[in-house]
Amino acid sequence: MIVVPLGIASATPTITRHLPSVALWREGSIFLFDAGENAQMRLLQAGLKRSKIDTIFISHLDIDHISGLVGLLATFQLQRREKSLRFVGPKGLKEYIDWHIQFSKLDVGYELDFIELEEGFDHAVVVDEEEYRVEARPLKHSIFCIGYRFEEKDKPGKVDADKASELGITEDEQFKALKAGDSLTLSDGTTVQPSDIVGHPRPGDSFAYITDTEYCPEAVKLATNANILYHEATFGENLEDKASMNGHSTASDAARVATEAQAKLLVIGHFSARYTNPFILLKEAREKFFPTWLATELRPIYTDPAHEKGIVQAKVMLKELSEKDDKKSTYKGGNRGKGNFRPRKKRMSSDRGHRRDGGGYKSRGEYDRTKRDDGRSTRSGSYDRDRESGSREHKPITPRPRYDDYDRF
Ligand SMILES: [Zn+2]
Repeated sequence: MIVVPLGIASATPTITRHLPSVALWREGSIFLFDAGENAQMRLLQAGLKRSKIDTIFISHLDIDHISGLVGLLATFQLQRREKSLRFVGPKGLKEYIDWHIQFSKLDVGYELDFIELEEGFDHAVVVDEEEYRVEARPLKHSIFCIGYRFEEKDKPGKVDADKASELGITEDEQFKALKAGDSLTLSDGTTVQPSDIVGHPRPGDSFAYITDTEYCPEAVKLATNANILYHEATFGENLEDKASMNGHSTASDAARVATEAQAKLLVIGHFSARYTNPFILLKEAREKFFPTWLATELRPIYTDPAHEKGIVQAKVMLKELSEKDDKKSTYKGGNRGKGNFRPRKKRMSSDRGHRRDGGGYKSRGEYDRTKRDDGRSTRSGSYDRDRESGSREHKPITPRPRYDDYDRF
């Protein structure tokens, strides 16, 4: 299983984050969890084929989680999709899609199957295939919202190839029968039991998708022992009240779910736009649950890295990687010889003293004045004079909040 976050913003996209959507790749098929605006572009950029989408799971009907659906349907139609497309989501999803198809006169040439869940349900197995199943439970948000658990059924145990050849088992059909649990009678009359060459069944991998919810026991049930738990962490601890008022989680709530569920890996996403640096959320989550990662758009997360690495490759450079590369090339041969240290910016020596006096962050205006020490700026000149005579009066500066205080989540 490969999980690829496509959009990790909440409510409003930011310059670096897209609206919520997560793709799950399994054996060549793609399962989409929510489809915010731009989901289809992000699929392309992630190196995932849109035509491989098998099922789309929708958590709830807030527009930021479904605004990418109609464009995707239109693309399927232009691609002449023939395979049916399955939707799982809250009641009303079909009506939403039907209306858009009708309004824009989309001639959908493939079948749409809907599995809709009504408010008040407590548990449902929404998909049950030969190799996997998907379970749904209600979450605790301001509107009806569903969490999902995608789990593979147990895989047959590994075959002991040496022992098999010793016993004279060579045909594929024979292996198939033994793997399926049937005993086999060989030409010499000996009977081979499956347990003779097939090991214990191996548990399948699991993925839980829990977004737009406060902490709730249902989330823990969905995430129990999950290999990958993708959980929203819209806010930090300082906005705990806001989180519960709006039916969202803090990073620490996500960590609590992961701890109680004994998940193997927690991946947090759905960040409020106010957190330009989501590492603060990572830090909070890791205090309670160490194996936590920040979701990064287009960066795949593997349940079996040894076999899965390279299957899904982003078509665009991930931001962090390209930045690192830039540093390497620009600062080669820097002070420490390692090549990835950025030279320290030259600031006037007055900067430090100034901060002590002011006890806060400098306003933009002050930066402009202190930055220039070459005498080209008249303001700079007068600043220096003031500083030397020690007569300059500093205006009190209110320290800025760490994040822009606009009210988005
Ligand atoms: Zn949301």
